[in-house]
Amino acid sequence: MKVTVVPSSVSAVGFGSDQFLISYLINDSVAIDAGCLGFFGTALEQSRVRHVFISHTHIDHVASLPIFLENCFDGRADCVKLYASQNVIDCLHQDMFNGRIWPDFIAMSSPATPFVEIVPIVSGQVLNIDGLTISVVSVDHLVPTLGFVIDDGKSTVVIPSDTGPTDEIWRVASSKPNLKAVILEAAFPDRMDGLAKISKHLTPATFGAETAKLPRDVTMLAVHIKSRFRNEVVAELQALGLSNLIIGEFGKVYEF
Ligand SMILES: [Zn+2]
Ligand SMILES: [Zn+2]
Repeated sequence: MKVTVVPSSVSAVGFGSDQFLISYLINDSVAIDAGCLGFFGTALEQSRVRHVFISHTHIDHVASLPIFLENCFDGRADCVKLYASQNVIDCLHQDMFNGRIWPDFIAMSSPATPFVEIVPIVSGQVLNIDGLTISVVSVDHLVPTLGFVIDDGKSTVVIPSDTGPTDEIWRVASSKPNLKAVILEAAFPDRMDGLAKISKHLTPATFGAETAKLPRDVTMLAVHIKSRFRNEVVAELQALGLSNLIIGEFGKVYEF
């Protein structure tokens, strides 16, 4: 399985080392979150993505969604499918596609020329899309949030999205005999543990505690590190001594 950590910052020489916004591409046609999906590559490249899962409504996960849907629109009936909980769909409709921030692409999606097809999903659901089996599992974040366990038959990769300490997704992941990698957040340094707790994010210490809930040989790809604290968080993650830790690089394609 090919997983691209979509870059969201640029420097004079290419992609920056900060992850301001969150999107992951699975192979070429499935995306998890649309924080920076609509700012990546060309409109034609974006239009190869046919299925977008939205974990939750925070802006770092949905910021470029209107731009992405506009870039994909070509007037054909076969449009992008957007998978999200009903709670997320309602928020996106009321707060983003409301005719003020952006045109109401949801109401404008007539059968002849749709911008987007909305597919409500719930925790516990399993979907089969383009050779992937995607299990949907609730995690523990400040707003209703879904994580994803993605299996292509050879490898399973877990993208919990934003979460504090959690359990159910690790239970589902551990049931997969081919579990290869977890793309896990480490938002704040350990000294900001209080902030991490109230905002339901992880620190390196709690990242380590979540890792201990998984089989030992699973690759842990650390992402969603708040940019102002990146060096501190990376040093603390490396001090955990996990042999299977990778600090996520942006624009990089990982093969699992
Ligand atoms: Zn969030
Ligand atoms: Zn986030």
